[in-house]
Amino acid sequence: MELAFSPSEEIFRQEVRAWLLENVPSNAMPSGDTREGFEAHIDWERRLFDARLAVVSWPKEFGGRDASLWEWIIFEEEYYRAGAPQRVTQNGIFLLAPSIFQFGTPEQQERFLPKMASGEETWCQGWSEPDAGSDLAAVSSRAVRDEAAGGWRLSGQKTWTTRGAFCTHLFGLFRTDPDAQRHHGLTYLLVPLDTPGVTVRGFGRLDGDEGFAEVFFEDAFVSDDFVLGEVNSGWGVAMATAGSERGLTLRSPGRFTATADRLLALWREHGDPKDTQLRDAVTQAWIDTEAYRLQTLGVVTTLSKGGHAGPEASMVKIFWSELDVRLHELAMRILGPRAEVAETAWAKGWQFALSGPIYAGTNEIQRNVVAERVLGLPRK
Ligand SMILES: Cc1cc2nc3c(=O)[nH]c(=O)nc-3n(C[C@H](O)[C@H](O)[C@H](O)COP(=O)(O)OP(=O)(O)OC[C@H]3O[C@@H](n4cnc5c(N)ncnc54)[C@H](O)[C@@H]3O)c2cc1C
Repeated sequence: MELAFSPSEEIFRQEVRAWLLENVPSNAMPSGDTREGFEAHIDWERRLFDARLAVVSWPKEFGGRDASLWEWIIFEEEYYRAGAPQRVTQNGIFLLAPSIFQFGTPEQQERFLPKMASGEETWCQGWSEPDAGSDLAAVSSRAVRDEAAGGWRLSGQKTWTTRGAFCTHLFGLFRTDPDAQRHHGLTYLLVPLDTPGVTVRGFGRLDGDEGFAEVFFEDAFVSDDFVLGEVNSGWGVAMATAGSERGLTLRSPGRFTATADRLLALWREHGDPKDTQLRDAVTQAWIDTEAYRLQTLGVVTTLSKGGHAGPEASMVKIFWSELDVRLHELAMRILGPRAEVAETAWAKGWQFALSGPIYAGTNEIQRNVVAERVLGLPRK
């Protein structure tokens, strides 16, 4: 087995590294989960796009450079290693885009992907509702057919919509056949948030950022061109999007290897050499991160050969989200009270890491998926 990257991949790495070295802002930007910070991050996205680095693995015609998944892994490693800004376009480029490539018509791909890549249009995920979180198939927001106008009239409410207050578009699940069984009768719709009848109300998170929004629909009209996949078959499209969120694209190993390296540096600087228990825990977290990286290389091998990620993506989600909590908890232990006073990046990262076992489907639900669909255990 050859675990090294090829010479041309290493050339790509050097190009990415050099560009990031030259361009990553030296001062930390305000959080992308604030209005001011979001705008600053979109400016950054435009610079990435101009350098053809926003979506490296996409076809050239949509703003990418036809890079392989291996090169995408390399890009991610370099991106996080350089401490580059968070990707506020992530829900579009990492979650929705793979589903547009899989289910979208050529017209939809042409219409949505280039503007997504450039940051001109930004996407939020409209799945959760006040009475539909873990049980996503319980969504009650409706889309009613308007035959004369050639589209759908939306009503209902979404919640927990990350960056909904700042984004231009939402992708969401709407009930189009209320008489069908729960998972049937749902349709995946693409909704411009400036559509008349759509109201977005931002609200704050525990860490103070206005990261969330509620989105209300009152007779808001979208045309048939904005249906992704088949009418009443939205569940299958949504599960494909969820696979991207849990599996490969949202949380690449580069994010965690960079954090693990920072943790090692923190240990060397502040760790108590006599605390062998903490030293071993730091070592184990670094090993776990490397295991995640190697596991991901295995997933990429499968995908490169035409395979699919499948329900195993749920195991991956459990692993990366719990790993992220562990890495940040160890940093907090090393820093002790200093974490709250001076090391705000670690403290903020720890707060966000705690939400990892909840978003993208809670880890309890992922364990149910693993039990039933990977291990084949009986449903209770
Ligand atoms: C940081 C963050 C960002 C988010 N961003 C978005 C977004 O952009 N768009 C969006 O649509 N949503 C978003 N969410 C919402 C997220 O998807 C939901 O919080 C999640 O699906 C859980 O739903 P819920 O909060 O309604 O909890 P509930 O479904 O009420 O669950 C409560 C608890 O019960 C457990 N539970 C429920 N059912 C079962 C079961 N069958 N078996 C075992 N345990 C169970 C859950 O695991 C959980 O611990 C975000 C959440 C967070 C924390």
